[in-house]
Amino acid sequence: MAQAFRSTRVLTPEGLRPAALLVEDERIASMRGWSEVPSSAILHEFGDYVLLPGLVDSHVHINEPGRTEWEGFWTATRAAATGGVTTLVDMPLNCIPETIDVEALEAKRAAAKGKTWVDWAAWGGAVCGNSEALSALAATGIPGFKCFLIHSGIDGFPWVDETGLRLALDKLRGTGLPLLVHAEVARPVEAATASLRAAGADWRKYSTYLASRPDAAEFEAIALLIRLAEEFQTPIHIVHLASAQALPLLAEARGRGVPVSVETCVQYLHFAAEEIPDGATEFKCAPPIRSAANREALWTALEDGLIDLVATDHSPCPPKMKRRDEGRWDLAWGGIASLGLALPVMWTAMRGRGVSLNTAMERLAAWMSTAPAKLAGLAARKGAFVAGADADIAVFDPAAAWKVTADNLHFRHKLSPYLGVELRGRVLETWVRGEQVFSQDGFIDQPRGRELVRP
Ligand SMILES: [Zn+2]
Repeated sequence: MAQAFRSTRVLTPEGLRPAALLVEDERIASMRGWSEVPSSAILHEFGDYVLLPGLVDSHVHINEPGRTEWEGFWTATRAAATGGVTTLVDMPLNCIPETIDVEALEAKRAAAKGKTWVDWAAWGGAVCGNSEALSALAATGIPGFKCFLIHSGIDGFPWVDETGLRLALDKLRGTGLPLLVHAEVARPVEAATASLRAAGADWRKYSTYLASRPDAAEFEAIALLIRLAEEFQTPIHIVHLASAQALPLLAEARGRGVPVSVETCVQYLHFAAEEIPDGATEFKCAPPIRSAANREALWTALEDGLIDLVATDHSPCPPKMKRRDEGRWDLAWGGIASLGLALPVMWTAMRGRGVSLNTAMERLAAWMSTAPAKLAGLAARKGAFVAGADADIAVFDPAAAWKVTADNLHFRHKLSPYLGVELRGRVLETWVRGEQVFSQDGFIDQPRGRELVRP
């Protein structure tokens, strides 16, 4: 039976407008005028709440199988649903086995069965030594590959140097699949860390950690990646850009048509180094959160379209691995837990920057739904309210004011730098393929998420 989702603020191609989404089976059949709902359709009336296409988070560490005590499909996808995120794309490391061959992917698929509240897909891993496995992995329908240029923290996911990058790009050339890269090279990090140690730096201080991962590590990595993307004419996607120093380089490359895309993360747009307390290792991520001035430059690049998308890089671990009692930035595991908070955090920031609701919703849908769907090869099904797309809907109350507490966090471990943060805007309901999965009253029925594969 057809359903209609109606509000005075539906995100249409012209911005927020009164409209009705007509849904048949699991897909959007059409977008209609507010008063043009057929009498035969079941009507869901949302008043003045905003209806957005479900968000797509293209950078999430679910950690299952193998490190399910860190996170898992059940908890991660529930956390996603609370934030209007209807698709997660899982990173190939932190799980055991790492997703670096077909067998490992099959293990992940088996682990996910019956546990996903939203749809998901898996990035494959390109590591030192697995170039011969990439073609078979690509043939399984995964959307692309992720690699590191520096130690990933996981010994089973060894980083690649330029030779390894060339091997991977050679396999990917012509497939259309992107190579996602953690863009920090090791040399500046090793050099900075060695001199900080020699000088007896205090590793409880955030400034020490920040100094240990200098901008140069990102800058040098990005220069290399631009060179290779241009040579191979194969898309390279820079994950979690943190350093604004690399922006001119990227702008110049994009101007020349080099196939390089850029992501930044919510934490780099919300927090600033000056505000991070010493010892507060729940803020540790790599690359690190940099200065307020750097944050401002990232916002400008995002608004100018140089940065394509915003992801979370949700990457939790058991709280004891954050070693909060010692507060040593060098010993703590890196990764920020935030899944479910991205939309209100971003809207709060934009509201504070004087952006109108209409403009903010258009941009947020572009950065957090359309662009990541495109990166993951899902543009035909996800990321916009268009006929034929999956009926994934986030119902958002932009006026709600609330403070993040552990009760609001649905990922496994309730340690997050967002605890205590005051936010504006809240996701009231989330619908995946025409079925409600979450409301403020709780989760609905049972998990119905599916893996998304390329045809
Ligand atoms: Zn990550």
